[in-house]
Formats: sequence, C-alpha cells, structure tokens
Amino acid sequence: MKTIQLETPGKFREIEEAEPQRQPGEALVRVHRIGVCGTDIHAFHGRQPFFEYPRILGHELGVEILEIDDNEQGLQAGDRCSVEPYMNDVDSPASISGKSNCCESLSVIGVHSDGGMRPFITVPVQKLHKSNALSYEQLALIETICIGAHGIERSMLKDGENILVIGTGPIGLGAIQFAMSLGSKVIVADISEERLAFCRDDIKVDHVLKADDPEFENQLRSACNGHLPQVVLDATGNRFSMQRAFTLAAHGGRIVFVGLLMGNIAFDDPNFHKRELTLMASRNATPDTFKKVIAAVESGAIDTEPWITHRLDLLDVPDKFETTIAEPKLIKAIINTEQES
Ligand SMILES: [Zn+2]
Repeated sequence: MKTIQLETPGKFREIEEAEPQRQPGEALVRVHRIGVCGTDIHAFHGRQPFFEYPRILGHELGVEILEIDDNEQGLQAGDRCSVEPYMNDVDSPASISGKSNCCESLSVIGVHSDGGMRPFITVPVQKLHKSNALSYEQLALIETICIGAHGIERSMLKDGENILVIGTGPIGLGAIQFAMSLGSKVIVADISEERLAFCRDDIKVDHVLKADDPEFENQLRSACNGHLPQVVLDATGNRFSMQRAFTLAAHGGRIVFVGLLMGNIAFDDPNFHKRELTLMASRNATPDTFKKVIAAVESGAIDTEPWITHRLDLLDVPDKFETTIAEPKLIKAIINTEQES
C-alpha cells in the first residue's frame, strides 16, 4: 500500500508498505480522512521536541472497520469510528485513576509511533469510538475537539459561570464549541481580527475581544457584568498570554492551560494567593470525552463544518503540505485517503 512518510523535517515521501496484520484485540481499519494538526506542522518544521524521524504522521482519524472479532464492544465491520490515538499502560497509576490521557508511558499514534497517513492501520478495539451518523470528515475532527473539551471538563465549569477562552486555533475552537454546547457564556480573546470575526460570524460567539487592546481588561469585565470570569482557559501556548491569565481570573477562579509552552512560567504569588486560584494543566482527552463530543456533534450542538478550510489528497501531501499549512486562512486541513489502496 502507498504510505506517506515524513522522512526528515521538511520532506515527506511516498513509500510502499505491506498491509498490516491484525493482532488479537485489534481491528483492521481503512483510514478515510485525516486532520492536520499543529503537532504535524511542528514535526514537519522540525520543531516538535523529542520527535523521531522518519515517522508516519496522522493521529486525527476518521476510519471504517474492515475486520474485527465478533462482538468486540458492540463494533462490527462497516462501522465508522473516530480513533482515540493515546496508547496507555492500563496498569499505570494514572490509568487506574481513570486518567489514561496522561499515563507515564503514553504513546500517541502518529506522533510517538507510526500513524494514519496510509490506507490501512490496526487499532486496539477499545480505542475506537463509533458513530455511523457522522461523516469521516467529522470523525477526523473529533480528537481535536476532545482536547478542547477535556480542558473544559478540567475547568469544572458550572452553570451560570463565565469562561474566557484565549486563543482560537483548533484547540481553542474545540473548547469554545464544547463550552457553548453546555450552554455556558463564553468570551473569546485572540490577537487576530480575522479569527475573532470567524468566531463571531461563523461560530456565533457573543463576546469576542482583541487580546492586545489596551482596554482589554475593562472589556472583559463588561462582558462579565463588571467582574472577571471564574474560568480562564489558555489555548495559546504563549508565555505572555499564560502569565497574564493569572490576572484575568476572578477571585476563587480556575485557570486551565491546554496550550503547551516549552519553557518556564512565572507568576506573582501574592496575586495567586489573594485570589486563591486553582491552576490546572490539560492534556489529551479521556474515552468518556470522546463519547460526549461525538454525541454533541451528532446532535448538531457542535458544528464542525466552518472549521474545514482546506482539503487535499494523501498522495499530494509530499507536494502540497508545505503550501497548504502556509495558507493565511488555514484553520483546519483535512487529508482524503480514499483514492489510494
Ligand atoms: Zn492533533
């Protein structure tokens, strides 16, 4: 089968591979759609720390089951699924506490091991999340939405609370849409006018704020009836933004860092103490989040259609990946693998 491999930073190539053989407990699946993610872009540019080359990318996958043992978790051949790409050690303390998303020996397919930029892969059956109501394109977006949704779950956002989401890349958008699907009041901040317009016009966010406006804090307060929001979720991975979050949460509030910074963060302890803030990291997502997000997309509470700005075929990846990810209007690119087998 024709497979696209990232050989070295900046260079994809087409290779020929044998079709994978299914092991007990695994399903053989046909990959139909792949979401292109910031992680893939960092790997392409050689900016993904600890990344090993060559690697077959692709961890946001909409797949079809081809072969599976009978009665495996209610799944059968022909089912459409999203893949939870986080391979965890079920005996680790994190997994035992229900946090399979951040297990010590976590390995993400398409990042730490070879992923889905090929027609067929095998997947442990418990990592498949079925929805025959969704398209393969929607299924390929589930993982990204789950990362934002997990951040919202970490925040313990309650009815009547306000949340500020900073950063409107796909992870921020996932957080925004999941919070809106719960009926929460969401305020969105970014430095890009275009992204804010997209959030206002296409995602129907009520309050969008320019993060670098000198009046930002006052605007934030007026969006929250004169107060600061109880929850601040940062999806930028930007040091300035993450450090400022400590001053934007209400007293007694919670801060969730979904975006990751390769470095240290400093904060003023008297400010942190005075407000009795709670700071949380959020990494990946749990199987339960996949189920909730699939249900929200199925019901229409989350609409992923506006996200997809670019589409390309798998075999065009070596030639077109670089220009596609450089497009100024890029939000999400989806790779179609259907022409190949
Ligand atoms: Zn991703």
